[in-house]
Amino acid sequence: MDVKILITGGAVFPFAEDATGYHPGYVLIEDGRIQAVGEGTPDLAAMDPDETIDATGQAVFPGFINLHSHAALTALRGRAEDVDTVTAVYGLMAPINDALTPEETYAMARLGFFEMMRTGVATVMESSVHMDAVARAAEEMGIRAYLVAGKVHDVVLGGVLEGKYAFDASLGERTLRDALDLVDAWEGRGDGRLGFILGPHATDTCSRDLWERVGEAARERGIGVTTHLLQNTQERDQVMALHGMRPVELLEAVGVLNDDLVAAHCLHISDREMDMMAEAGAHLAHCPAILAKRGSVAPLMPLRARGVNAGIGTDNMSGDMVEAMRFAIAASRIREVSPDTPKPADILWLGTRGGARALGRDADLGSLEAGKRADVTIVDYRAPHTTPVFPETYVSTLLHCGVGTDVSTVLVDGRIVLRDGQLQTADPGEILDEAQRAADAALKRIEARG
Ligand SMILES: [Zn+2]
Repeated sequence: MDVKILITGGAVFPFAEDATGYHPGYVLIEDGRIQAVGEGTPDLAAMDPDETIDATGQAVFPGFINLHSHAALTALRGRAEDVDTVTAVYGLMAPINDALTPEETYAMARLGFFEMMRTGVATVMESSVHMDAVARAAEEMGIRAYLVAGKVHDVVLGGVLEGKYAFDASLGERTLRDALDLVDAWEGRGDGRLGFILGPHATDTCSRDLWERVGEAARERGIGVTTHLLQNTQERDQVMALHGMRPVELLEAVGVLNDDLVAAHCLHISDREMDMMAEAGAHLAHCPAILAKRGSVAPLMPLRARGVNAGIGTDNMSGDMVEAMRFAIAASRIREVSPDTPKPADILWLGTRGGARALGRDADLGSLEAGKRADVTIVDYRAPHTTPVFPETYVSTLLHCGVGTDVSTVLVDGRIVLRDGQLQTADPGEILDEAQRAADAALKRIEARG
């Protein structure tokens, strides 16, 4: 399928190191890769595209990369935003994860991917139960997905809410085996759009022995590791009581603190642990929207000041990267008591290039440059909340005033998966109906169990 697509007429923000934007510019795509990016309006006859996307009044960005998501948890939408993290994770999410059947998980994953693609996400790092069902949804819908193989843990999660940590070695064995089975079953499928990353759940819900085995398995397979790190003080206190060291020190001791590690949250991280993250080249998956809704802000700027790479994640309840990026600006400004830092362009860079770096994909994702995979997000500014717009305000207007559904078009690997706001790869009405039914059924089952 050697399709040639030309995007022309709009502002183009390649996010290459040496280019800030073309007004107007163009992007030429061939066979799933970017062939050329440039300024001006190209000669159509010379380029001879099979298809032209008219981006007049719009801006063209690298496809957004959502670095941390649990799409199936959308079943808890409107219920899990008004409680603390420990209650949310162990009181609400653990029960819904137990309740969801593979088919219901598939329905919720499709809803999550629909929302993400509708709001500009081309790549997601996705973690859920029944990852086979999630992988199937990703393969069918055409999103690029890093499937978190896990969640690996050997602490019985049901007790953690009350601060009880019961270790069950067979649970660790089973969750790690399930994780590696997923990689074996799905590696190479989805036309190369599916990637894998091992997902030990958190520093307090895996024993030291299990952490070491996860590290070995990741090295053997040549895949990365992602985890929830310093998500709450209970995690920190439990790790210190059990191991006599802080969570980041534990990760170093078990051999996973390196540039293949993507750590979500890092909310209660110490200065010394930040230094250790920077030295090791570990990456932050910053999830500002859900944290802010629960009253907290992770230290994005102190980590960035030390040179830690970061990407942006929506985490749970919302898959909207525009919302997540806006929270990233507002939350950090409140935390740092700053009227102007971080800048919108820096946050958009994290939501694209930073995410690609965290995935080890800087060579072929994250920016619009010749030779890279053609993952593209186009935003329409012809709306009352984004008018007027000027060459120097496209980025700040999107992040301060835009909404996710301003995204008109998304390409993944040069395939148009969203066109003029319409999902091209599945039936949107069917996705919404099935997700509503699945959430209804799972929640009713939890209620019946009492
Ligand atoms: Zn998470």
